[in-house]
Amino acid sequence: MKKDYYEILEVSKTATADEIKKAYRKIALKYHPDRNQGNKDAEEKFKEAAVAYEVLSDAEKRKKYDQFGHAGVDGQAGGHYQNTEDIFRNFGDIFGGGGGNFDPFEAFFGGASRSGGQARQKGRKGVNLRIKVKLSLHDIAFGIQKNIKVKKHVVCHTCSGSGAKDASSIGKCSHCNGSGVVRKVSNTILGQMQTTTTCPVCNGRGESITKKCATCHGLGTEYGEESIQLDIPAGLQDGMQLSVAGKGNAGENGGPAGDLIVQIEVENNTELEIEGQNLIYSLTVNFADAVLGTQVEVPTIEGKAKFKVPAGTPSGKIFRLNGKGLPSVNSYGRGDQLIVLNIYSPKHISAEEKKLLEKLKDSPNFSPKPGEQTEQGFFERMKGFFGSEG
Ligand SMILES: [Zn+2]
Ligand SMILES: [Zn+2]
Repeated sequence: MKKDYYEILEVSKTATADEIKKAYRKIALKYHPDRNQGNKDAEEKFKEAAVAYEVLSDAEKRKKYDQFGHAGVDGQAGGHYQNTEDIFRNFGDIFGGGGGNFDPFEAFFGGASRSGGQARQKGRKGVNLRIKVKLSLHDIAFGIQKNIKVKKHVVCHTCSGSGAKDASSIGKCSHCNGSGVVRKVSNTILGQMQTTTTCPVCNGRGESITKKCATCHGLGTEYGEESIQLDIPAGLQDGMQLSVAGKGNAGENGGPAGDLIVQIEVENNTELEIEGQNLIYSLTVNFADAVLGTQVEVPTIEGKAKFKVPAGTPSGKIFRLNGKGLPSVNSYGRGDQLIVLNIYSPKHISAEEKKLLEKLKDSPNFSPKPGEQTEQGFFERMKGFFGSEG
């Protein structure tokens, strides 16, 4: 059972944005890893608070959380903080370090140095990559694992991303003396505040390259191709997007890779028409079969299915196959398949056929009986099936 985000931040459900920010700041400082070295419990609490804050500080996410609880924000928060550095990167602003890395611990406690175990972000983050993936009706109905090849910037195979010709051509950055950050002390009403920002010369690597790699000219990336396995869940719709973290372009100089944004394009080449979560199939039978009833095969997403047309079925009749439609990626349950019956009216008939029909034409059973069959138009009834208001 996941803990309530409001409880984690020790605020009430009606707390203002400002109160939430203050509460988070307090907890983040209390459980800051530098003050709790090696304390796993504190680290958990630190991460937990970051996740809670991520949701509650975002009006949209908070609203969803209030309405649906954890289910409302699942997949949008939590679990993606690899380490505490990520948390600082994400919430730089709350700790006051506009853009750069601001170390709240240093600011509050006057320059105690950070624990050395964690590496600062190196290099520049790779650019997100957008691709389109075509899916069939079957793919969106059942989900699929797809292996795709993506052309993009990958880590340079010659230098493994360092950008240097060899190990001996990497030296300390003289601007930051190898730390990757430059410190700035400024006077504020709270006293002296020390902020750190990424070194502009080495982009935070702490290194300078004397001889560049000949393949990538020092960038650490080259143009290449990567095979990526996409796990596509069932229930996606045309135009939806999936984001795969870290599968975009490689970062420069060993920086983290960007994300891969996959846009879904549904290519439906079946006779089933997609209408939201429902599928519509137009079934055409001849006049005699509609009158006498018949057994036919209809396509469904699970393959061919036997379907019985009852005797005396009027044209335009809609049958519903419950639960034979599409699933939804956001909820349980599936849509339905609707079968709309059409009666085929031949354009050309033989003299003999004409004679038979003329014989039937005046037979009393063949004259329409007012009110016996639905008089409502086709579109009215379709609307009724989809529960539309208009
Ligand atoms: Zn290289
Ligand atoms: Zn530097």
